[in-house]
Amino acid sequence: MEYTAEQLIEFDDKYGAHNYEPLDVVLSKGKGVWVWDVKGNKYLDMLSSYSALNHGHCNPEVIKKMKEQLDNLTLTSRAFRNDKLPLFLKKVCEVTGMEMALPMNTGAEAVETALKASRKWGYKVKGIPNDKAEIVVAANNFHGRTITIISFATEDQYRDGFGPLTPGFEIVPYGDVAAIREKVGENTAAVMLEPIQGEGGIIIPPEGYLNEVKNICKENNVLFVLDEIQSGLGRTGKLFAWEWDGAKPDMIILGKALGGGVYPVSIVASSREVLGVFNPGDHGSTFGGNPVGAAVGIAALDYILEENLAERSNELGEYFMKKLKTLNHPVIKEVRGKGLFIGLELHEPARVYAERLKEKGILCKETHSTIIRFAPPLTITKEELDWAFLRIKDIFTE
Ligand SMILES: *Cc1c(COP(=O)(O)O)cnc(C)c1O
Repeated sequence: MEYTAEQLIEFDDKYGAHNYEPLDVVLSKGKGVWVWDVKGNKYLDMLSSYSALNHGHCNPEVIKKMKEQLDNLTLTSRAFRNDKLPLFLKKVCEVTGMEMALPMNTGAEAVETALKASRKWGYKVKGIPNDKAEIVVAANNFHGRTITIISFATEDQYRDGFGPLTPGFEIVPYGDVAAIREKVGENTAAVMLEPIQGEGGIIIPPEGYLNEVKNICKENNVLFVLDEIQSGLGRTGKLFAWEWDGAKPDMIILGKALGGGVYPVSIVASSREVLGVFNPGDHGSTFGGNPVGAAVGIAALDYILEENLAERSNELGEYFMKKLKTLNHPVIKEVRGKGLFIGLELHEPARVYAERLKEKGILCKETHSTIIRFAPPLTITKEELDWAFLRIKDIFTE
């Protein structure tokens, strides 16, 4: 029997925990930048699953490689080697300019891995006294949802009811170099930042910020760690957002689009000095580095590079942002972004605008209540952006 959208929403709400508040659109098909609901309505996806869909929905190249792998070998665990993981690790190191990598599945697991690597490096290499390692992070961050990660979130809702929390983190205002200089010391193992805060509302730090933080880290023998799970892999108009500042990190965290929009794949890449601190048995994941994930990861990276998605994001992002800036409406506070990573900040709650856009055939979501994020698949065309702009314009003029 076929269920109606209303029934599916009812099951969703009845049997599923309410840890999300999705728009009431029930999707059943996706192709490129477009998705269809069970009623056959077509929408332009301008959220891209928080930049996990840089490749578009059901990308044929990625799916082809995944299907080939599914027919051969799906899981070995790391108790045995497989023939895809080495190639994935090699590719990630080449693309990131790093020496070693450690694969996981979700973004939060990769962030946890980066935190573990930073602490262990702090003790074993830097010589921080036992259990004294500190990691400096920014206010308004988003690094995932594990208990340790939410321990240094500044959004009350992320933490409320989940204590006791993990100690060992120092929180400084984002974009403030002096605050980092003040907090970094002998017991600091790492500074971890997002090059642009995504969930925080597309917050772009002052020019040169990352470079200055990197220098402070260098002077104090502290690891400079960047979480590029959302900003990386072409989203901001460069392959990695750190390139805007020329501030290559000591450790980079990737996820989301690394899975090509089909499968969770995340990874931490760094130097031999840092990731070399892991010994057999220290850390792991049953599915991390599995051959399907590795094949998907390789295909996802190849596609981004071969199709020049970063350059495309840069050009189309500039084009689209220029158009958005012509929307002269009193409710619009600011349009900001880099590449196709754009925030439209309003003077009032954005949810109702997201609902109106849905009625017009555009799916997007508010973040931090007053900001609409426009982050379509990087495969989007200029014509499709024009189509979107007309509808966005409509909801602000009606
Ligand atoms: C989404 C995100 C994460 C968490 O990734 P999950 O796959 O949801 O665990 C971590 N950091 C940043 C910057 C993100 O955008």
